[in-house]
Amino acid sequence: MTSPPPKQLAEAYRYCPQCGTANPSPGQSPLRCPACGFTVFFGPYTAVGAVLVNDGGEVLFVRRARDPGKGKWGLPGGFVDAYETAEDALRREVTEETGLQIKHLEFLLTHPNRYCYQGVEAPVLDVFFACKVAGDNRITLDESELEHYRWQLPDPAMLANLAFESNRQAVLHWMHHGAV
Ligand SMILES: [Zn+2]
Repeated sequence: MTSPPPKQLAEAYRYCPQCGTANPSPGQSPLRCPACGFTVFFGPYTAVGAVLVNDGGEVLFVRRARDPGKGKWGLPGGFVDAYETAEDALRREVTEETGLQIKHLEFLLTHPNRYCYQGVEAPVLDVFFACKVAGDNRITLDESELEHYRWQLPDPAMLANLAFESNRQAVLHWMHHGAV
C-alpha cells in the first residue's frame, strides 16, 4: 500500500493566518496576503544531529519509536528552538534523548532534509556535529521517541537502514574526515 505524496507546507496554508482571507495561490512561497499584506516565508526549519563517538571509535545509533522513520535507525538530535544556538540545541537534545552529556563537539556538515508529519512536508536544514560524551556513557533513552540504541562501527548494513539520507551523509563524512 502506498500513501499519497505529502503536501508541501506552503500548500497547507489555505488562509492568511493573520486575517483569515483565502490564500489565492496555496503552494506559492512566500504567501502574501492580498488583503492585509501579511507575508509567510517557508524557509527551512533547523535541526541538529550528533555523531556521538565513544573511546572505541563506535558511533551511537538510536532506533526511532515514532514516525517519520519509525523502526529505522538514526542519530540523536532534533529541532532547534527559537533563539537557541545549534550547539545548545545539540546538547539539549542529546541529553533529553539519551541522558548523555556532551563534553566536546566539532562541526561536521549540513544537509537538506524534509520532515513529513501528518501528510504535510516541511523543509529542514540538518546541522551535524561529531561529539564526545562525558562520564561513563550510561544511556537512558527517552522511550517516547526512541526504542533501542546500539554503539557500533558504522557498517553498510546500518548505513542502508537509516531513516534519513542526511544522517547517512553525516556518518560517511565523519568516517572519511575523522573529526573528534
Ligand atoms: Zn491577511
